[in-house]
Amino acid sequence: MRPVIKAAWPQEKGSLKSYKPYTKANNDLEANLGSYCSYCEVFSSDLEIEHVISQDQDDTLAHDWDNFLLACGKCNGKGGKSNKPVDFTTMHFPHLIQHLSVVFL
Ligand SMILES: [Zn+2]
Repeated sequence: MRPVIKAAWPQEKGSLKSYKPYTKANNDLEANLGSYCSYCEVFSSDLEIEHVISQDQDDTLAHDWDNFLLACGKCNGKGGKSNKPVDFTTMHFPHLIQHLSVVFL
């Protein structure tokens, strides 16, 4: 898993762009992250929008740009993770690995 640099929430007409339904984020995410799974880095033309915190756990984040990554079907469906709590202090996410940019400066 390589770090990815997630763009700030895109704007539209001076406010945060709406991603309802969340599938509207697909083009913006691919423009930002490329056509690669954010987890296993596989190149794919069939990526899914991954909710870092699943809709089952917090549906207020279902349309939140900052909660999106791209994932292949295999990574997105892994292990029924939608029911597992996300602990940012013990879990690693490709868009939250920021210290590496300091190490390599
Ligand atoms: Zn993957």
